[in-house]
Amino acid sequence: MRIVLLGPPGAGKGTQAHRLADYFDSRLISTGDMFRRNVRQETSLGLKAKSYMDSGELVPDDVVIDMLFSELDKSPNGWLLDGFPRTLAQAEALERGLEERGRPLQAALQFVIPDEATIARLAGRRVCRRCQRTYNVEVKPPRIEGVCDACGGELERRSDDEPETVRHRLEVYWRDTAPLVEFYRDRGLLREVDAVGEVEEVTRRAIGALDDVPDRT
Ligand code: AMP
Repeated sequence: MRIVLLGPPGAGKGTQAHRLADYFDSRLISTGDMFRRNVRQETSLGLKAKSYMDSGELVPDDVVIDMLFSELDKSPNGWLLDGFPRTLAQAEALERGLEERGRPLQAALQFVIPDEATIARLAGRRVCRRCQRTYNVEVKPPRIEGVCDACGGELERRSDDEPETVRHRLEVYWRDTAPLVEFYRDRGLLREVDAVGEVEEVTRRAIGALDDVPDRT
């Protein structure tokens, strides 16, 4: 399947993206994870992205779009995108690129959640340094404190989860990314999921919302 996941920072997209990718046996492509990998490895792409990420700004469209398409072309048949598109220019580039490849997008899944809930979630979020799985010290703690259940890697707080940066990321979301909801609604691709609730319950809702997407596995 070819779907994009939308929603504000802290909506639980990353957690749900892993669970949906497992369920549908699809490749998960997260632009945020790709950037963080590049920052850690100090590649030229990472150096370009770092200052934007640290201040909660978006990385420029041309940089993201090039990176994304080189990754999409490795998995032409199916993927879930987490963190892309984030602007109308990115959504339009994705639409054009997929049309050229004869494999249009099948759905855009929007995780709906109030800002107050996302701010609280981001404060407790911890991410595995090795496999990027996310946890929450309040609502989804790992079995052993500070250690990833899946790979044993060390958990850390993301530098852009500091409260000031979180507030700015939410502003950027409402300014640049929220208009994509209408973009995908106009194309009949939008599916909305209530993202407030237990992780398992939200996954069940998300799978249900994708019920009518052809070739789901
Ligand atoms: P995320 O993990 O999706 O919250 O992304 C973390 C940061 O990476 C964002 O705050 C941006 O600085 C950058 N980033 C990730 N995806 C994109 C994108 N599609 N467009 C621009 N910047 C992005």
